[in-house]
Amino acid sequence: MATVMDNDVLEALLEQVRPLKGQGKVADYIPALVTVSGDKLGIAICTVSGEQFQAGDADERFSIQSLSKVLSLVVAMNHYEEDEIWTRVGKDPSGQPFNSLLQLEIEQGKPRNPFINAGALVVCDMLQSRLSAPRQRMLEIVRKLSATPDIAFDSVVARSEFEHSARNAAIAWLMKSFGNFNNDVATVLQNYFHYCALKMSCVELARTFLFLADKGTAPHLAEPVLTPQQTRQVNALMATSGMYQNAGEFAWRVGLPAKSGVGGGIVAIVPQEMAIAVWSPELDEAGNSLAGIALLEALTQQLGRSVY
Ligand code: GLN
Repeated sequence: MATVMDNDVLEALLEQVRPLKGQGKVADYIPALVTVSGDKLGIAICTVSGEQFQAGDADERFSIQSLSKVLSLVVAMNHYEEDEIWTRVGKDPSGQPFNSLLQLEIEQGKPRNPFINAGALVVCDMLQSRLSAPRQRMLEIVRKLSATPDIAFDSVVARSEFEHSARNAAIAWLMKSFGNFNNDVATVLQNYFHYCALKMSCVELARTFLFLADKGTAPHLAEPVLTPQQTRQVNALMATSGMYQNAGEFAWRVGLPAKSGVGGGIVAIVPQEMAIAVWSPELDEAGNSLAGIALLEALTQQLGRSVY
């Protein structure tokens, strides 16, 4: 790894994808996100052997948005038995936009997977049922995983999402109508929006998600976060559902388990080797970072990595 990778290699990859600027669109359905400059571009890699590489805007914090869906699932896996989770949410790709209501009606309130909004809202409903302070608990976990004590929620983004929450509220209420949502909708939405509004940098994200490359633990962690089997399961869900309706296209181009967020971040895992975080706020039509995908594609081609 060290012989083929260094910060200059990453800088060169950034220059390769920079011309894509202007081809995507910064998310505007959450008004507080529109203020972010589309110019931003960063990458960070943390390896299981303890190395760290970075280039571009890798230290600048941004809204992690749906990357938080992986973290909330991990917390649920720590507090619930397997059956309790997977009777309420599925494990299959949805083939639909992340905020779609269509399947939910047809499939009687059971979301296809935990990485679309409906699935993440069910997971947040579970956390509300079993944790005394779900927001505080998430902060503690993320601070521990990232080894960074000042990770925080961006309250402006969280409020902006709550003020424009019609669709997510509709999803939650539809699930409630099918008996798959137990707590107060507004309370759970607030938790979910706060998780989405965590502000983190690529470096912090690569470190946070390193446990998924290292069988559930990481060199900087005192104890495992997940068992090796749970880790494989989360990676499998990321590979099949982490990029919404473009999971197949992403598998074709990049070939790694990954999760995207509408803040323009993507985290990708090379099992047994490294966690990669990229950030470029302009999105494609599926809500995935356009240059971020191109950057991961260029990187995996250069390194010759894929899980397939
Ligand atoms: N907070 C966003 C939403 O609920 C997250 C979506 C995303 O990042 N894909 O719409």
